[in-house]
Amino acid sequence: MNPEKNYVGRFAPSPTGALHAGSLVAALASWLDARAQRGRWLVRIEDTDGPRCVPGADREILRQLDVLHLRPDEPPVWQSQRQALYQQALDELAQRSLAYPCGCTRRDIEAALSAQGHEHQRHEERVYPGTCRDGLHGKPARAWRLRCGTEDAPVRIDWQDRRLGPQGQDLTHAVGDFVLKRADGCWAYQLAVVVDDARQGVTHVVRGEDLADNTPRQIWLQRQLQVALPVYLHLPLVLDARGEKLSKQHGAPPLALDDPLAALRTAGQALQLPEVEAGDVDTWLKRATEAWARRWVDAR
Ligand code: GLU
Repeated sequence: MNPEKNYVGRFAPSPTGALHAGSLVAALASWLDARAQRGRWLVRIEDTDGPRCVPGADREILRQLDVLHLRPDEPPVWQSQRQALYQQALDELAQRSLAYPCGCTRRDIEAALSAQGHEHQRHEERVYPGTCRDGLHGKPARAWRLRCGTEDAPVRIDWQDRRLGPQGQDLTHAVGDFVLKRADGCWAYQLAVVVDDARQGVTHVVRGEDLADNTPRQIWLQRQLQVALPVYLHLPLVLDARGEKLSKQHGAPPLALDDPLAALRTAGQALQLPEVEAGDVDTWLKRATEAWARRWVDAR
């Protein structure tokens, strides 16, 4: 084994409900990777999106993790208590003209895009047309956006994932100037996650593959804020019987914890770990860590 002395990993759930079989896989994978590399493992409650948070879900998630013996090495943090840090980062970006205020409503953006001849397809990501890049044109500021290159100088992000291999995205054309602070005053996930990963010294991000397409935005933001880039591992999602991502939105039931060992075994199967002989949670976690190390650490 090749221990990473300074390894810091994290699990960063949004408290939109209790842990379910899918989110347990993300929690377990990040815990196993940290343990397999003799690192520290942190838990961060991502409650910046106030309207989506469910009261009490944070406490329930922490209780579930505790029952599963997935215990953080430091007290958990709540993003809602870290807003001054996000403001500081935004101020810095604004001072350097890397971020700018935007006065566009959704309707303004639609209108500008169709004036440019873009027919909007359902589920297609809207690329901000750049209306407020050079000023608000008399409109009041609503959101804050980050500049992501121009037609003449597009930004391309190339990055490496431990499972997916080399990845790349033309950020300018696929995403455009994205939101750092929303019109409703909530901090955007992208900014909060990057500021916190940097502040908490996170060296390794292990999370579900559904978040992989956020990574280029986060890497661009890390570069703009001149902070260290973590190493990324995006894992396959747990699908339900219809082949959809197991999620609270799709009605995944909260994890039953009357048998924590069985819950861990199921999560281990989703991670394609070999069957582990164990009669109790701590033995299972220890053996699963060894299996994880063989698969994801020693084989590097
Ligand atoms: N809070 C995000 C979620 O629950 C995960 C953030 C991350 O791991 O980067 O989907």
